[in-house]
Amino acid sequence: MGNYEVPVTAASNLTLAEKIIQKQPDNVVNVNENDPAKFLELKNAKMIDKKQFIVLGPNQPTKHSRLSKYYTESVKVNDIEVAQKRSWLTYSLSLDKIFCTVCLCFGPREDINYLRDGFDNWSNLSHIITKHCTQKNHQNAAEAMAHALSDSTIVKILNIETMRHLSKKRKEAEKLHQYLIRVIDAIRYLIAESISLRGNEEANFYNNSEKSEVFKYGADKFLNLLNLLSQYDEVLNEKLSNICSTKKQSAERGARITFLSNYTQNKLIHTMTQNVKKDISEKVNNSVFFSLSADGTTDITLCEQASIVLRYVTLAARKAVVKEHLISIVETETTTGE
Ligand SMILES: [Zn+2]
Repeated sequence: MGNYEVPVTAASNLTLAEKIIQKQPDNVVNVNENDPAKFLELKNAKMIDKKQFIVLGPNQPTKHSRLSKYYTESVKVNDIEVAQKRSWLTYSLSLDKIFCTVCLCFGPREDINYLRDGFDNWSNLSHIITKHCTQKNHQNAAEAMAHALSDSTIVKILNIETMRHLSKKRKEAEKLHQYLIRVIDAIRYLIAESISLRGNEEANFYNNSEKSEVFKYGADKFLNLLNLLSQYDEVLNEKLSNICSTKKQSAERGARITFLSNYTQNKLIHTMTQNVKKDISEKVNNSVFFSLSADGTTDITLCEQASIVLRYVTLAARKAVVKEHLISIVETETTTGE
């Protein structure tokens, strides 16, 4: 087994790869374990070694600026450009070379294959990587790998991989949920204070490559408020920074969900209105008495409007409490009361 530890223990019945995955619920794999140099040390790797190495996932350190741009490629799906991960590309920190995991594990030995043997001619890397997937030896290796991974053991291991992926997705969903709460609260605050959400000038800070200054006079007040809060709140800061930085990239599906557009603001306000009306309606239904009044007035644009006000009486600790709510302002055609 070379330098790998004993892959299966009778006591726990877990393979080394399973143990590592279970120990790393955040999808963070120790870079030393998935370094291709570790696999090369095995010389005559057995099938279990290959499977374990594949399950560890690619080593793609984001701090390696020379390589990080190659970790994804742009592919067309139904005429739409989407970013797809090159999960077969893996980097060896100790050898300072880039490898193809598929060819490294399943590539035939007799031909020349730069990404199977490790490649470090960085000026030529773009060309080699683009060409690699179309080469026959890579495609044969991919086929061999698919065949090898189809047995029950690896399916079990891949299920763990799927669970890990789901756990990551759940965490992302929770983050998005927390972010949305902040967006809704910011809108609620501005409405409660009778402050318009949008200013004379659309700030659209999320369309810039970097976050704009905290305040921008006359700009969209809702975005200004979020920008200010993000200085003190990690959830907002992380999401808004991501929105700015992913603007010009072919972002992953979901990465551009911002909840910041005028359209979304109106949708959220509409939903809040419905909820408030539902709440008032329930209280009126449970009240002792209620009345409805309409009062007309002319606004500064000489438009005749009527306010609809609900008054109702509830009993709290055997005391009658009068409540009043303005539920709507409607434009009226006449002032005759008909
Ligand atoms: Zn390959």
